[in-house]
Amino acid sequence: MRVSRIDETAVDMYENRLFTLQTIGEKFGVTRQAVKKFLNNHGVDTSDRLRPQKCYNCGKEMLRTRKRVRELKRPCCSRKCYYELINNPNYQQSRQGQRIAREVIDKLTTLWHHMNYVAHHVDGDDLNNDPNNLWAFKTNADHMKFHRFGESEAYIVSKLQWEKVSKELS
Ligand SMILES: [Zn+2]
Ligand SMILES: [Zn+2]
Repeated sequence: MRVSRIDETAVDMYENRLFTLQTIGEKFGVTRQAVKKFLNNHGVDTSDRLRPQKCYNCGKEMLRTRKRVRELKRPCCSRKCYYELINNPNYQQSRQGQRIAREVIDKLTTLWHHMNYVAHHVDGDDLNNDPNNLWAFKTNADHMKFHRFGESEAYIVSKLQWEKVSKELS
């Protein structure tokens, strides 16, 4: 029998990176049918079942097709959440600050890998990415709660622990 050109990384590509059968096939130089067969033989369900995805704004879980999960980087469960997200000044201003902060946080802990958390700069300076200046909020709703009402729960990056946070204390 011919040795398959596909290897185990195809499973990760399909399950975690959400590549299409077509794309995976192209990477290994085989047909999409061959990829499907390989995945099925390795216990992977390739039926187009819905997958859980969290609303980027409120954290509510939704069921979405692979295609939708792949396409939407900041999925929202409702129009309300979508408008809250695009009207959030932090979301608008600090994309680069978020990116750098997340790099710092992801190096210190694996807790947040693959999660759509919101990094918060305690002193308001996006360029100050010292761990002492960083908190992480589980959802944008938790983050907005802090900015609007002055109280929420955050992960204190320098301490690697959860705490109730309030504006008076920061
Ligand atoms: Zn939502
Ligand atoms: Zn913030």
